[in-house]
Amino acid sequence: MGAWRATIERIALVPTMGALHAGHMSLVERAKRETGATVVSIFVNPTQFGPNEDFTKYPRHEAADLAMLDKAGVAAAFVPSVDEMYPPGDTMRVDPGAIAAPLEGAARPGHFIGVATIVAKLFEITRPDLALFGQKDFQQLRVLQTMARDRYPAVRVMGCPIVREADGLAMSSRNAYLAPEQRIAALALSRGLFAAQAAWSRGTRDPVRLRARVQEVVEREPLVAPEYISVADPLTLAELRLPANRAVISLAALVGRTRLIDNALLGMEVSEIR
Ligand code: AMP
Repeated sequence: MGAWRATIERIALVPTMGALHAGHMSLVERAKRETGATVVSIFVNPTQFGPNEDFTKYPRHEAADLAMLDKAGVAAAFVPSVDEMYPPGDTMRVDPGAIAAPLEGAARPGHFIGVATIVAKLFEITRPDLALFGQKDFQQLRVLQTMARDRYPAVRVMGCPIVREADGLAMSSRNAYLAPEQRIAALALSRGLFAAQAAWSRGTRDPVRLRARVQEVVEREPLVAPEYISVADPLTLAELRLPANRAVISLAALVGRTRLIDNALLGMEVSEIR
C-alpha cells in the first residue's frame, strides 16, 4: 500500500465491514464526487464486537462486495486479514475518550475503542485526505471526527445521510438477520423517529416531549424492545434537558435477538457537522 500511496495525489477512504448495500454505496458515490482516488476497506473488525455479539456470524460476502466495488469504479479495495491488522502480540489501542461514553459506548463496553483503533490503523496505512462515514452510526461519526481533530488533523471526516429502504427502515447489514414479521416490526424505529421529526416541524422543542413521542410509537410494537431513546446535543451527545434549536434523537432496540440502531437529526444536516 505504501508505494502505491506515493503515486496518488488525494485519497478518499470509505471503511466498511462488507456485506455492502446501498447505504455503503452512497458513501462510495459521494467519495467519487470528491477529488482523488476512492479506497474502500472491507474488514470485519473483531475488536469492536463484544464477547456475546455477532462477530462470527456477521455476514461476509466478499466476492459480491468486490464485484459491486469494481462496477462502481473504485481505485482500490483493501481487504486485510485479522492477522495483518492485529499481528500476534499487537496491543495498541486508541481510547476516544468522553464522546464514546454514552449511548452505544455505554451499551457496548469497549466498542468504540475497537472502532477508533481500527480506523486509526486504516488512516496510518492508507493516509487519506478524506474519510467518509454514515450518519446511520451517528456516535461513531462523532467519535471519529473527534479522533481526527485530535490525532489526524490532515484527515477530513465527512458524514453522509442515512439511506433507508422505501418503507423507512435504515439499511443495515444486520437487517438480513430479521425474520419477515420482525422486518415489519422493525419499522417502528423509523416510524418513531419520523413522528418526532413531525413534532419538531410543528414547533416542539422540549426534549422530554420529543423523546416521549418516539417512545409512544416504538412501544406500540410488541416485537420491539427499546434499549435506549436519547435526545442529545449533536456535537457533544450530552442529553438535552432544555429546549434547543438542534438535536439528535438516537435509539437502539432489540427485535428478537437482532440489535438495531437508528437516529434522526433535528434542526441541522449531517453535512454541517465536522
Ligand atoms: P458498516 O459496514 O456497518 O461498518 O458500515 C460502514 C459505513 O457505512 C459506516 O460509516 C456506516 O455508518 C455506513 N452506513 C451503514 N449503513 C448505512 C446507511 N443505511 N446509510 C448510510 N450509511 C450507512
